[in-house]
Amino acid sequence: MKRFWESALLPWFFLFLGLLFSFLIAWKSALWIKETEQIRFQAASNHIASLIHKELDAHIQLIRSVAAFMNASDDVTREEWKQYALANHINEQFLGFRALGYAPLIQPYDRLKHEQAVREEGFAHYTVFQINASLHSPLFPVTYLEPLSEINEKAFGLDLASESVRKDALYQSLMRADATLSSKINLVQKYTTDHQSGFLLFFPLYQSREAPSSPQERLKDAKGIVYLAIDSKKMFEQLLQSNYILVDFEIYVGMAPLEQNLLYNSNPELIEPRLSDYASLEIYGKTWTIHFKAKNVLDMNNSHYFPWIQMLFSLLLFGLLSGLIYVLQRTRKKAYAIAEEKTKLLAKSESEIRSIFQTMQEGVMVLDDHSIVVECNLAAQEMLQVVKSDIVGNASNDTKWSTVHEDGSVFALEDHPSFKALNTGLPQNNVIMGIRREDGTLLWVQTNAQPIFSDDFDKITSVLVTFSDITAYRKSKYELEKYLQIIDTHVITSSTNLHGIILEVSEAFCKISGYTKEELIGKSHNIVRHPDIPSSLYKEMWATLKKGISWYGEIKNRRKDGSAYWMETIIEPRYNEEYSLVGYTAIRHDITDKKRVEELSITDRLTGLYNRLKLDELFAQYISIAKRHQTPLSIILLDIDKFKSVNDTYGHQVGDSLLQAIAKLLKVNVRLEDAVGRWGGEEFLILLPSSNMEAAHVLAEKLRGVIEAEDFAYVGSCTASFGVATYHLNDDETSMVARADKCLYLAKENGRNRVEVETHNGIV
Ligand code: GH3
Ligand code: MG
Ligand code: MG
Repeated sequence: MKRFWESALLPWFFLFLGLLFSFLIAWKSALWIKETEQIRFQAASNHIASLIHKELDAHIQLIRSVAAFMNASDDVTREEWKQYALANHINEQFLGFRALGYAPLIQPYDRLKHEQAVREEGFAHYTVFQINASLHSPLFPVTYLEPLSEINEKAFGLDLASESVRKDALYQSLMRADATLSSKINLVQKYTTDHQSGFLLFFPLYQSREAPSSPQERLKDAKGIVYLAIDSKKMFEQLLQSNYILVDFEIYVGMAPLEQNLLYNSNPELIEPRLSDYASLEIYGKTWTIHFKAKNVLDMNNSHYFPWIQMLFSLLLFGLLSGLIYVLQRTRKKAYAIAEEKTKLLAKSESEIRSIFQTMQEGVMVLDDHSIVVECNLAAQEMLQVVKSDIVGNASNDTKWSTVHEDGSVFALEDHPSFKALNTGLPQNNVIMGIRREDGTLLWVQTNAQPIFSDDFDKITSVLVTFSDITAYRKSKYELEKYLQIIDTHVITSSTNLHGIILEVSEAFCKISGYTKEELIGKSHNIVRHPDIPSSLYKEMWATLKKGISWYGEIKNRRKDGSAYWMETIIEPRYNEEYSLVGYTAIRHDITDKKRVEELSITDRLTGLYNRLKLDELFAQYISIAKRHQTPLSIILLDIDKFKSVNDTYGHQVGDSLLQAIAKLLKVNVRLEDAVGRWGGEEFLILLPSSNMEAAHVLAEKLRGVIEAEDFAYVGSCTASFGVATYHLNDDETSMVARADKCLYLAKENGRNRVEVETHNGIV
């Protein structure tokens, strides 16, 4: 169920409300403006009425004072009259003033007498004239007239009672004994055909000082009348000039606004006024009807637009509000949709995480900030051989199993990674722990404990403990370690980098070489290199290894104490996980004993030279090479001269020593590739592969000289005789030795300490 503020109608509701409200405000405002306008109109109208009244009152005051002046003396002369009018500035003081006149009551029979009297005053053409002739009524001829200007002159002598409007007002004044206004008249004037509208204001004069009480008596007692002629247009225009007036008006004489009675219209162009009102002005025996009319009596004409502007603003405001609500609703709806989507995603990811949590191989436990287990996954239950209800809700230390370190000591409570994580706020990683399960079996785990912080990081809310079963791994690691230890102890191994620098050596290596690990690591294998091993072997070895091929060979090494030992060696290139060659690993086998036996079998025990057996073997080998490759091969056979006598003279042992000394001389004076051996007794055979006759001859001579020159112990000088033979096609060992022997025999024959070489034709 949607709430009200979620409804799609809400913006429309506000728009409608806005419309209603705007309309009401505008309506109320319009009413108020109208009312205000009406009040102002009324006030302005009243102001005009009072102005008119006030102006007429001023005229009344004037005419009253004129009447009082006339009554003050029985016989006011024309000059006095004139002076009075001038003194009072009547022309300037009174709006619309046209003329101030005096008309005495003249009986028809005194008409001529009256005319005569005025004429005598200097107005030779003075004649009483009538608009409508009447022979019997009393006359009221205008006798005194100020100003007697050209414009007014035409009225001089006019019988005011000869025209009905004037007569009505005149008689009414006499009867009322008060100032009285006439109806509208056309003012009598000279030189113009355009008659000016106006009115007259009469004030009666009586014979008696006090006016008689009844109208009839007043008529009888009438003496004359004073009057003011007022130009209505002029009066109202002057009134408008001297006053600020908000409304226009029409003034009619009488109760009804009849066209013929229109005294004045302040704005004839305003035909259809927006505001209009009528007022009756009861004034000095007359009723004036004032028609007030106005377009607008408020100073600000725009005020009429105000409600509309107000409505527009209000509408705009509500429109904006509705728009805002619409936008807010849309945003809210979108936000809800996003939240819903996110919630779905969150639920999905939560279920995914939950399934990962349950299916992962690692045991997972969540502890609260009091170390109470709040969650654990299947792997954890299986590893610990419990069901969830056994541990969830319990303190993590309140378990039925004990924990041990790798060395078998009991795990203190405060050392548990979960406790440490909780207490220190630091993650605890890779802690190895043995857990003794209920059935007594020991489970080895590698544990991590990760503290989980509250959003503002000010406290730890829980600890995530993960652990993996490493029991099998530990077992195999233990076995491997044992195995490696055996290897280390018993197998002579070393690892180098690509440059032959030793990185690792086994105990067995140290043992056989006499060096410690520290002395070996960081050095090259040169440290154990024996000088007997030619560089060529190492060159060949490196060439092989650099091709990535393993190398096999027997190498003579030298111990720290200088003694030699023999290693049967296999060197394997070593690659890293990315299959890059990173170094070499060598596995060696001690073959010193074997080598010793081997050496003994080929060595003459007395001299250390090759024995007959080895010489035979090598001789056969060299002959076959010479045969196959047509390379030269020569042999030197030598026999110590008169050796028997050495034995006889110095004893057998000295003879042996002499044999050893000569053997040594021979050994050091031949090339490494040449093989020197003891052929028998005090005879030696030297095999010279790749030496021809000449070279062999030279060598034999050299050896002869060396022996001859040597000063031997006990014996002093000693010489030897030499026979030299070289390889010929189809030769074998026997034939070659036979020829060498023949030469040797010849050397002996020829006096000993000689070298004899074979000749081409067989012997010498
Ligand atoms: P020449 O060869 O000059 O004719 O005289 P020679 O005295 O050397 O004669 P011959 O070659 O026949 O003598 C060999 C002697 O060498 C015989 C033997 O007593 C001696 N002899 C052989 N083998 C050994 C040995 O191993 N040790 C010692 N001390 N003497 C040996
Ligand atoms: Mg001999
Ligand atoms: Mg001899």
